[in-house]
Amino acid sequence: MKKPLLEAIRERPLLGDGAMGTQLMLAGLEQGGCGEEWNLIHPDRVLAIQRRYAEAGSDCILTNTFGGSRIMLNRHGSADKVAEINAAGVRIVREAFAAAGRDGYVIGDIGPFGGLMEPYGEFSEDQVREAFNEQAKALVDAGADAIIIETQTSLEELGLGIDAAKQAGAACVIGSMAYDVTLDGETFRTMMGIDPERAAEFMADRGAHVVALNCGTRMDMERAREAVRRYRQTTALPVMAQPNAGQPTLINMKIHYDETPEEMLRGVVPLLEAGANIIGGCCGSTPEHIRAFRKAMDQYLESGRGGTADFADYADKR
Ligand SMILES: [Zn+2]
Repeated sequence: MKKPLLEAIRERPLLGDGAMGTQLMLAGLEQGGCGEEWNLIHPDRVLAIQRRYAEAGSDCILTNTFGGSRIMLNRHGSADKVAEINAAGVRIVREAFAAAGRDGYVIGDIGPFGGLMEPYGEFSEDQVREAFNEQAKALVDAGADAIIIETQTSLEELGLGIDAAKQAGAACVIGSMAYDVTLDGETFRTMMGIDPERAAEFMADRGAHVVALNCGTRMDMERAREAVRRYRQTTALPVMAQPNAGQPTLINMKIHYDETPEEMLRGVVPLLEAGANIIGGCCGSTPEHIRAFRKAMDQYLESGRGGTADFADYADKR
């Protein structure tokens, strides 16, 4: 029996996975297509991607269920398959770890519902709450070790996601914000104006177990380090960081992310030293990025700089 995720990250930092969306595109998903449906119609392709992450050394892999809420699936006429798609998502990650001969944690992924809530948008709070409740329950019932509510920009939506995960009985609930660097380059906040301190306080109050950041605009490894530092100053909760592999550019009508594994890996130790408990990548990151992260993390841990004591100590001091 492996330890619960929350126990494991108090002992040593863990490695997350890389991008799913950009990998699905490489595997043939059309722009605007429903990647989550692939859990049912092309499970082999999803498995192949996640198996590469497991083989590259990921300790935690997110399910391919970013858009797996009823509201998102409804846009593809698949609202009746919420339970099926999310359960398959969990199963495929387990298969990926098994195929790679590696034990790991399945993090059930819940992305934004993709609209705005009243009074700004057309969705009522109840509709969003129900959609998140349904998805979180499907992921937890299928055996996810944790739930991540990710790429969040508003506290209202994040709060509904956290509530849903807790109500479903998730053993570990991760809230993850997408920050954008401000035009003057001074700082970063979400599209809805939330800064890391406010997000961390909110998540701690709402009962999340891990505060995280992912994706965003111009949030490179250095900015991610800064976000981790600010989270750490605000809360004693563990921290997770999954920045994008640099900036997207369009080359031959294909989206390309400009940070290589070699460039990104230089940011791994600073992230660990800032106190990150889980490190992974978001858009544009690949199994090669994750392999480079694994190497940097292992070297760091073997050097004794980031041993158990450091992390336990750090948590105690907060
Ligand atoms: Zn992303």
